[in-house]
Amino acid sequence: VVEEAVEEEKEETAAAAAVPVAAKHEKDYYPYILIGAGTASFAAMEAIREKDPSAAILIIGNEDIGPYMRPPLSKEMWFNKDEETTKNLSFKDWQGKERNIVLHGKETIQSIDQEALEKIESAESGVKLLTGATVEDLNIAEQSLTLNNGKVLKYGKVLLATGGIPKTLPVLQGAGEGKVTTFRSVEDFKKLHSLVKSADKKIVIVGGGFLGSELAVAVSHYGKDKNVKVTQIFPEDGNMGLVFPRYLSKWTTSQVEQEGVNVKPNSRIASTKAVGEQVELTLESGEKVLADHVVVAVGIEANVELAKKAGLELDEHRGGVVVNAELQARRNVYCAGDMTSFHDVTLGRRRVEHYDNAILGGRVAGQNMASDKLHKAYKHQSMFWSDLGPHIGYEAVGILDSKLSTVSIWTKKPTVAAADAAAAAEEAPAKEGSTDKKDEGKRERATATPLPAEAVKVEDKEKYNKGLVLYLKDKKIVGLLMWNNFGKVDDARKILGQVYDTEKVEALVKPFGIHEE
Ligand code: FAD
Ligand code: NAD
Ligand code: NAD
Repeated sequence: VVEEAVEEEKEETAAAAAVPVAAKHEKDYYPYILIGAGTASFAAMEAIREKDPSAAILIIGNEDIGPYMRPPLSKEMWFNKDEETTKNLSFKDWQGKERNIVLHGKETIQSIDQEALEKIESAESGVKLLTGATVEDLNIAEQSLTLNNGKVLKYGKVLLATGGIPKTLPVLQGAGEGKVTTFRSVEDFKKLHSLVKSADKKIVIVGGGFLGSELAVAVSHYGKDKNVKVTQIFPEDGNMGLVFPRYLSKWTTSQVEQEGVNVKPNSRIASTKAVGEQVELTLESGEKVLADHVVVAVGIEANVELAKKAGLELDEHRGGVVVNAELQARRNVYCAGDMTSFHDVTLGRRRVEHYDNAILGGRVAGQNMASDKLHKAYKHQSMFWSDLGPHIGYEAVGILDSKLSTVSIWTKKPTVAAADAAAAAEEAPAKEGSTDKKDEGKRERATATPLPAEAVKVEDKEKYNKGLVLYLKDKKIVGLLMWNNFGKVDDARKILGQVYDTEKVEALVKPFGIHEE
């Protein structure tokens, strides 16, 4: 007990001493350190610089490059036929505009290595990015952290935005060296892309969630003229089975099959062995599947290794570090992005693994870091989206869980004709480099054509072209899925949390334009 009291006293003294002003010109002191050079850190950096333009910020990341968008890695990057563009990490968005996955924004980020870091006498205004460095320890009482080379840095405020670590399956262990990989980073993309470039490859993708489904469609599309065969294996009834209502999940599978993917739902892998240069997967049904390469996409675990060592509170149920609605874990310690279990004022405690949550959460964390008086709650509902090739796209807000009861409203007619959509895209060109969420509604798809009739295997051929699915919990609307129906995210946000009333459903869905066509 005495020891604890002494320890506590030491902590208090240390914290009181670590006032940023006193330390300002000390070597190895940075007012703001952002751990993890990902999406959430990028957004936090921009928010800090908006509030405090002369801020000295150090971003530390253990990948070789700075913050970039992961979403195109399982989508647009595979629809690009120009290998040079792909090499430069550029891609054409669905409107045909060339973009790059690296996040630049308004700020100039100065990349430094450990040697250059060593030479810095006193942190100056501006953003520095240290890549290829892992933060191994965080000492909250001392307001310091230790890098993998042993170097200690002091901070005024710190953000943990360490993202997630892909899970693997023990049953895949017998596959042979390098034959089974996960997929999260640019490096992973480059490896798979170069593998699929050569002809006649058999690729197995394990997992039927966001990543597995997007990647199956994308790789199959890319490999079509190279005789690449993609098989997708997962335990659910259909693609996105944990997210979509059952009928929609099954219909999505029919669409993924149209893209040439051999989908094996209701399937689990029983054993794996290396057969020559290939991998043989035996399913629980006894069926055998041969692969040149296996990609596992069975979810992620919040990356809390550092936070755990530092003694931060972890969320036992959802994973992630527990923070309050202001995204604060402890005094001067903030978290954002995939690794954060936060209090959502409307929907309760949550952890969200999507891009916009990393952007919006990162912003709020950054704003609070830059101002001791702001105490801003993370209230704005993040959205997420997915594209299964150029024909299916959706946007969503709130909780989408197939275990919840749902109400669906579908338009009977096909969506925008190709010509109309192309014209719309001309009028509203995609914006580059903006973090302004007003841009969100501009997601139009120039390539959206009605699905060919033969592609639809369910009874009502035009049923699932455009629609809205409401997810209900305790009679409240907790999630909205807008299917091939873009630019309605703000309308959806207004409805989230409202009580669902069958009588008023017409008025409720009016803004979504479902019945207009
Ligand atoms: P990350 O972007 O993962 O960044 C964390 C970074 O921290 C990583 O670079 C990691 O290496 C680094 N790091 C971790 N620990 C340390 C340490 N101790 N020291 C130094 N560095 C460290 N979401 C959508 O909403 N829509 C999509 O279409 C979509 N598509 C996706 C496609 C793919 C292929 C993937 C992988 C994800 C996709 N997502 C999508 C999810 C989205 O990309 C993530 O939610 C988002 O990247 C989370 O951002 P983050 O900053 O929390 O983590
Ligand atoms: P996920 O959580 O979306 O999907 C998990 C899937 O793993 C399940 O649907 C299931 O099919 C599969 N699975 C689980 N246990 C299995 C088992 N024993 N055998 C076979 N399959 C099993 O995760 P993900 O699809 O791997 O995506 C990785 C991360 O990237 C997630 O954080 C995800 O949100 C993110 N991501 C998001 C998007 C998007 O928002 N559009 C796109 C790609 C990736
Ligand atoms: P967006 O394209 O404006 O990008 C979202 C965020 O990414 C921005 O807030 C910004 O922070 C960041 N960002 C993107 N490009 C940047 C750049 N060059 N410099 C700095 N920051 C940048 O928003 P969105 O329209 O929601 O698109 C997000 C994703 O969806 C992108 O990957 C895009 O390719 C894809 N997309 C899909 C469709 C579709 O029809 N399915 C249409 C447009 C975009």
